[in-house]
Amino acid sequence: MNIFRDLLRPRSRRHRPPQPELESSTEPIPSSVTDTTSSMEPARYYVHYDIDNPPAHPGNGWTRFVCISDTHSRRFNVPPGDVLLHSGDLSSWGELPQLRKTIDWLKGLPHPAKVIIAGNHDVCLRSFLALNHASAHRLLSALLGQRLDSRRPPRDTLAAQDLMRCQETRDAGIVYIEHEAAQIVTSNGREWAFYGSPATPRYALGAFQYSGMLSSVEGVDIYARIPPNTEILLTHTPALGICDITKRGKHAGCHALRDRLESPDLSNCRLHVFGHIHEAQGVEVHPVGDGTDTLKVRVSVNAAMHDYNPIIVDLLD
Ligand SMILES: [Zn+2]
Repeated sequence: MNIFRDLLRPRSRRHRPPQPELESSTEPIPSSVTDTTSSMEPARYYVHYDIDNPPAHPGNGWTRFVCISDTHSRRFNVPPGDVLLHSGDLSSWGELPQLRKTIDWLKGLPHPAKVIIAGNHDVCLRSFLALNHASAHRLLSALLGQRLDSRRPPRDTLAAQDLMRCQETRDAGIVYIEHEAAQIVTSNGREWAFYGSPATPRYALGAFQYSGMLSSVEGVDIYARIPPNTEILLTHTPALGICDITKRGKHAGCHALRDRLESPDLSNCRLHVFGHIHEAQGVEVHPVGDGTDTLKVRVSVNAAMHDYNPIIVDLLD
């Protein structure tokens, strides 16, 4: 079976529990994988596997990304890999000690590089100066247990930002990006271009939120900042229509992000990792570009941990 030709026929192929897809592969599926998933070139991904005996690294010429999100101050078993990606909601409810707990956990993981972003729960990372309505200010004050001075960032915001970017955190391989790009070189010598955004369409109280209305320009402005050379994109929100269906059956992803991801200048983006909608955990694979190059695919991963394993994505260098 030509999996690339097949890939182009439907708009996407999707993998999410509870109906695992078993697909033919040009590579043998590692015997340790008891309930695989999918395997394709130049990308492979693993959703279901034995966490104590994860699939073998594909070897030289590949980079293994281990994708997690929405860990909310909990600790999980995480398989080894070249780069750990965390797509936000690091803390349970945005308090500094909760964030510290997650950073301490991440520091102890063996991955040489760990690229992480925040999410709407991580309120201590967001200066309320950017929250422009009074009710949000009051609720944030209550959440943080501080009387907030409207002219200065709260004390915990300064401490939280320092925690994410201090030398000790960076020495543990952690790279925190907040509407920023980063370049990471793996032990194979492959340099990957990352971009990360913690933003989500506004829903109740939270940090880094913007109007998700179709007519809103906020989301358009936020995602216009993704550089065209981006290969690995981390956002907290899904894009509209991709692993974004809520328990109530509604699509909760962002219109503006979907439009940006479909623009030709992001055709280098091979992996998009997000979370936020916990129940929509899973993987979709789409062709990118004009569809003529069957090797150009993008793997979209909703990596919300919830009750699931980290999702492993291997990309050919
Ligand atoms: Zn979450």
